[in-house]
Amino acid sequence: MNSILSTPIKFLDGIGEKNAEYLLKYLNISTYKDLLHYFPYKLIDRSKFYTISELNTGLAEIQLIGKITEFKEVKGQKGSSRLVAIFEDKTGILELVWFKNYSWIQSKVKTNEEIVVFGRIQSFGNKFSVSHPEIEKLESFKLKTKTLEPVYSIPETFKSKRISSKTIQKWINTILTKINFEIDDFFSEEFKNNYGLIGRYDSFLKIHFPQNLIQLNEAENRLKFEEFFFFDLSLKQRKIYNKKKNISYPFTNIGHYVNDFYTKHLPFKLTNAQIKVIKEIRNDLRSEYQMNRLLQGDVGSGKTIVALISMLIALDNNYQCCLMAPTEILANQHFTGISKLVNPLNINIKLLTGSTNKKERNYIFENLENGEIKILIGTHALIEDTVKFKNLGLSIIDEQHRFGVQQRAKLIKKNKKLPHNLVMTATPIPRSLMKTVYGDLDLSIIDELPTGRLPIKTFHKKNSHRLEVISFIKSQILIGRQIYVVYPLIEESSTLDLMDLMDGYESLSRDFPLPEYKISILHGKMKPADKAYEMERFIKGDTQIMVATTVIEVGVNVPNASVMVIESSERFGLSQLHQLRGRVGRDSNQSFCILMTKDKLSDEANTRIKTMVRTNDGFEIANVDLQLRGPGNVLGTEQSGVLPFKLASITKDQSIFNLAQKAVDFILTEDINLDLEKNKKLKYYLQKTISKQTYWSTIG
Ligand code: ADP
Ligand code: MG
Repeated sequence: MNSILSTPIKFLDGIGEKNAEYLLKYLNISTYKDLLHYFPYKLIDRSKFYTISELNTGLAEIQLIGKITEFKEVKGQKGSSRLVAIFEDKTGILELVWFKNYSWIQSKVKTNEEIVVFGRIQSFGNKFSVSHPEIEKLESFKLKTKTLEPVYSIPETFKSKRISSKTIQKWINTILTKINFEIDDFFSEEFKNNYGLIGRYDSFLKIHFPQNLIQLNEAENRLKFEEFFFFDLSLKQRKIYNKKKNISYPFTNIGHYVNDFYTKHLPFKLTNAQIKVIKEIRNDLRSEYQMNRLLQGDVGSGKTIVALISMLIALDNNYQCCLMAPTEILANQHFTGISKLVNPLNINIKLLTGSTNKKERNYIFENLENGEIKILIGTHALIEDTVKFKNLGLSIIDEQHRFGVQQRAKLIKKNKKLPHNLVMTATPIPRSLMKTVYGDLDLSIIDELPTGRLPIKTFHKKNSHRLEVISFIKSQILIGRQIYVVYPLIEESSTLDLMDLMDGYESLSRDFPLPEYKISILHGKMKPADKAYEMERFIKGDTQIMVATTVIEVGVNVPNASVMVIESSERFGLSQLHQLRGRVGRDSNQSFCILMTKDKLSDEANTRIKTMVRTNDGFEIANVDLQLRGPGNVLGTEQSGVLPFKLASITKDQSIFNLAQKAVDFILTEDINLDLEKNKKLKYYLQKTISKQTYWSTIG
């Protein structure tokens, strides 16, 4: 099937071993098919001609018909030289210039011969020139009836190897001529009709050499559909497969831990959303197959209690649990908070971080292995090889955006069987992205904040209005509330940012003098013990203001804090701003977020600030973020590689994505293993071509 497309590229006429090597090394192209999937990044309209009199500085690439009247070689400084040709048409004159490798030109192009010139124009004063133009005799140009010409992106090193966009174009043309419709399509005629798709060969032809934009559109549509279709198909198959394969521990009991806690020690009434997701988790845990669930809930929606109840279920079934947090502060906070909540239940809980001393570590290692410790909370110290559980049944990761895929995998691996697996995130990812990136995780969403919460009021204040802000802060402190003031720290090592923070701290100390006011300070350069100490003072209310860098971004919970001042907020991304704002508004009092900026803002910064002022909805904010920055940036470099699309965009091609998903569901409902005759080709193509991806749930 499709054998011609798997032909190694070196067998193509005119390519040869060397070029084939380069293609493999720099573009990862090894077969005909790979080359056909190397799509042009733009098309140039070669049907459009200008006259010299029409040229203006606003044009980039131009095409002219005329003739060269004269060549002259011009010597420059330091022995350099260039070839200049005077080119004219009926309306004027311009210069064509070659700075190097021009010995062949005069033998190929004669003066006074009608030629087509194509290239990028430059202007010096009111004179125009074109450097290193493409030149073709008018006669042969006419024969080819050119319209839209594909342009391929070319690695820098190819220039010295004489592989240009034109060369690629020629090779692709050779392949297309050679296979001439003789390729199999994995989509049946009926399927193509149903979903409005053109044939496979057609799509290659029209993506590389469209006659017009309609053809291009048809080709893109088909190829994008294909990308989405196989992506979704492989995810869904994987999910089905995992469900059957990853054996875990069925937690069938609900015993005294859960019951006691639920009836006697629950500190508040759960929201309906919390009850709903606990049910979803409970259902997963009950089965003998591994749970792989993503718990998504906006900041402050109450994920911690859900995690705790899940852990109590594991305990009722005599299994151990662990909870991993991305920072020591957070791990500490979880440890303190959870210990307090379950204090009456008498559970052995321990904390393991980089700062845990040797004696305590040894105690922990020993008692984890013998099963005495039931819950272990910590940072990535949990995934060190020395940490061995007796029977880890449930692993929970909080705010997993901070962890790499690999780290998470390691945690899962800590057992012979696979422990159940809950990942909690507050980073609001647009639903479309969520599906593509965590598509193999089941999703639980807490879409409701605890009742009685007032929406945080957000204001934008320019530096020139600082005095207002200070008096506002004083009024809040007067009624007993606490304040965060956050400074950007783009890189951990940025000394400049640290100086900003220190300056800010000093000027705040002047505005809020001792003994009336007390200020804590927190930044990444401090020792963990000092951080913990400062955090503790703020939590206890000993200090009213916490000056910090983004180390407090994730998860910190001080419900009495009511004002979040973000300095130089134009330097923060949307999701970070949203996270930071989520540190306030954690009880039933009115909270505020004040976004300080310099006076003049870029358009993008302006959009970010406006969005924050307008809405508290994490999903809406995430969508704006996605529009502004694109999926790769939203997910961070580490995870952007997860998106396997060359052509399709999950932001712009949402409707194609939806259609492709529908098609997949339709097929899988009828034929889950793709065994029917009509689906054989799909199965084959899926197995053969979909490259191995890192799946969240299966790395373990
Ligand atoms: P997050 O989802 O951001 O991790 P937390 O679990 O830290 O949120 O909860 C935020 C705050 O809301 C905490 O102070 C917590 O005690 C409180 N909380 C959680 N659930 C409820 C509820 N159902 N009713 C009232 N307060 C709640
Ligand atoms: Mg949290």
